[in-house]
Amino acid sequence: MNKTVPVTKNEYIDVVFEDLTHEGSGVAKVDGYPLFVPNGLPGEKAKVKVIKTGKSYGFGKLIELYEKSPYRVEIPSSDRQKYGGCQLEHISYAGQLKYKENQVREVLTRIGKLEDVVVHPILGMDKPWHYRNKAQVPVGEKDGKLIAGFFKPRSHEIVDTDESLIQLPEINEAVQTIKEICSRLGIPAYQEESHKGVLRHIMARFGKQTGELMVVLITRTADLPQKDQLIEEIVARLPKVKSIVHNVNSKRTNVILGEKTKVLWGSEVIYDYIGDVKFAISALSFYQVNPVQTKVLYDKALEYADLSGEETVIDAYCGIGTISLFLAQKAKNVFGVEVVPEAIEDAKRNAELNGLANAEFAAGEAEVVIPKWYKEGNAADVLVVDPPRKGCDEALLQTIIDMKPKKVVYVSCNPATLARDLRILEDGGYKTVEVQPVDMFPMTTHVECVSQLILDEK
Ligand code: SAH
Repeated sequence: MNKTVPVTKNEYIDVVFEDLTHEGSGVAKVDGYPLFVPNGLPGEKAKVKVIKTGKSYGFGKLIELYEKSPYRVEIPSSDRQKYGGCQLEHISYAGQLKYKENQVREVLTRIGKLEDVVVHPILGMDKPWHYRNKAQVPVGEKDGKLIAGFFKPRSHEIVDTDESLIQLPEINEAVQTIKEICSRLGIPAYQEESHKGVLRHIMARFGKQTGELMVVLITRTADLPQKDQLIEEIVARLPKVKSIVHNVNSKRTNVILGEKTKVLWGSEVIYDYIGDVKFAISALSFYQVNPVQTKVLYDKALEYADLSGEETVIDAYCGIGTISLFLAQKAKNVFGVEVVPEAIEDAKRNAELNGLANAEFAAGEAEVVIPKWYKEGNAADVLVVDPPRKGCDEALLQTIIDMKPKKVVYVSCNPATLARDLRILEDGGYKTVEVQPVDMFPMTTHVECVSQLILDEK
């Protein structure tokens, strides 16, 4: 064993937590050696058991709390693990907001070297529960019945869940009802190990403003047993359902959705509104999961774009055109780019639906399409990016630097890649004016930000 590791496996030690990881674990240091302990909070004194030791860090289990953090709250459920994904449920909402805001400041300084950037206080929710409009839950079997919930952390064991405290009630109801119907009809659950069985995931999506429900059944087999009976019962028991979709994923993979999608009943899309803009959402398209905070986020993005009506705007990573259409209300032209072709179909339909003829959409990778536009002589006055967690591709950042739009609005779901990309844009001649964190995902460790950059014409 490495002599520099000051703790040994199965040892009990007393620690004080100094920090919280981005996954929500407490961090204690033993002679400088970090020990990650789920459920520990900064400032707390505790007894922990060392579970695993690596060369440069280890893991522990919380055994007893000697001193509690003022931010610790009794969790509303009997078993926190039951509600997968709620890593911060044991922290008061005020504490969660503080933690997220600090994290943004910390990474912007450490990774982005943006010492004096303005980071506004995070915008949180009034009621941080039951906000999610979408669930995708894995299905398994236990004692001859179907179960559905989430995977136990670091395992493939499914924990059956009746109610998720962060899902909208309509979503909880839909998942429970479908689980119950499929179970009764004897539809077998998918078995990961043997790659046998049928039903892999149940997905539900709800338009909060319209009250429309979409249900997606994801199976390994192209055939869905008891299909007609299943549809009949879903329609009878979930009166809000407007669309029932079947998706086939025959591969051995962790990816939830497969390539074949078919509408079984009703419409191909459901509708929802963000502000005054109406959106059609299909099964495969990305749509923000917190409708209340999405409005807050998009309003900020619009404010940062600061449009007069004369601008040409590019919206990279546009999804179904949500931000694009928000901006199109105030811009001369908007061009959206997105890699999922189905989302682009939705985006075009959404432009039409809202009578916004000044928005156009192209399917493709932002880092390929936008450089091509630029080479053809097309430039934007304002460029918006909203990339996935890995951030923007370097080729896109370089094109922004060459194209020199007056303003860049960067919407990010990962502060670390935001910080990295802001540094590249700063080195390329931009100045980060301000960063606004928005809490889109209460109870979870996810942090969303929107930032405004301007071309530094010095
Ligand atoms: N702005 C939209 C979507 C943001 S999520 C909204 O607020 O709803 C990020 C989107 O980027 C997803 O729709 C994803 O499909 C898309 N995407 C991922 N990689 C991409 C790439 N290289 N080029 C273009 N779009 C990409």
